[in-house]
Amino acid sequence: MELRRVRRVITAHQQKEGGGFMVRRPFPSVVDGRELEQLDPFLLLDEMGPAVYGPGEAIGAPDHPHRGFETVTYVLDGAVEHRDSTGAVGVIGPGSVQWMTAGSGIVHSEMPTAGIPERGGRVHGFQLWVNLRARDKMIPPRYQGFEADELTVVDTSGGSRLRVIAGDVAGVVGPVETTSPVTFAHATVAAGDSIEWEMADGYTALVHVFEGTADINGTTAQEGQLVELEHHGGGVVVSSEAGAEVLLLAGEPLGEPISRYGPFVMNTRNEIVLAVEDYQEGRLGSIPAEGSGVVRN
Ligand code: MN
Repeated sequence: MELRRVRRVITAHQQKEGGGFMVRRPFPSVVDGRELEQLDPFLLLDEMGPAVYGPGEAIGAPDHPHRGFETVTYVLDGAVEHRDSTGAVGVIGPGSVQWMTAGSGIVHSEMPTAGIPERGGRVHGFQLWVNLRARDKMIPPRYQGFEADELTVVDTSGGSRLRVIAGDVAGVVGPVETTSPVTFAHATVAAGDSIEWEMADGYTALVHVFEGTADINGTTAQEGQLVELEHHGGGVVVSSEAGAEVLLLAGEPLGEPISRYGPFVMNTRNEIVLAVEDYQEGRLGSIPAEGSGVVRN
């Protein structure tokens, strides 16, 4: 397999999000003095924690809107309760994923649960934002939820474990139906083992290391570093001497103009103005009172 060159290594910065919780964010960011707005089609990657909260310390993101893209929440430790303006309620627990297509607009809350607000506990997870093509930005909102045992899990002979959430890695296909071609997987790379990964030529390919140290096509990256590869030139091999945890991300670049403002990502400034107006006028809806929701994962 031919291997793509590494374009750059991006070190995540710390940032406060939602009600005030700390996240590790590789992008959007300022890299080498320049604004890194997106890694098309990905708009944001946040790592929440790992953090151990005491009783009363865990904070989430109360009611807020989104329009024009998808939010993907992947929880490793702890649990997040999701409620939204379509009436859906679900708990994203350890190892499970929620792929929410905000489309034309949704209001949701993402709050810690499973006793963590009261008793404290460990919280660790990710949120990825995936852009929608101009023609898909106003599709009806929906979400797909998968439990840990519904992800496609493969164990390699070298002791590594691959959990494919969306798209495919080495012929292994994940359960999520994506709106544009996207691969999202979590690999536990065992000490001394390696994972080979091929994606379509021209696709964006990223490897985010969140535990240990990994070698990505000859470049070393450690915990908190994201490796961006060139768009052409072949595949990716991830190996690790002592073992590592990584996220694998690939997607077809949309190549469209972006206008973003907080929780709204559209193509033009005028569409952002409309999104803010629609939200302020209540046209994105609101979360129904507790007890009336449709329970889904
Ligand atoms: Mn949100």
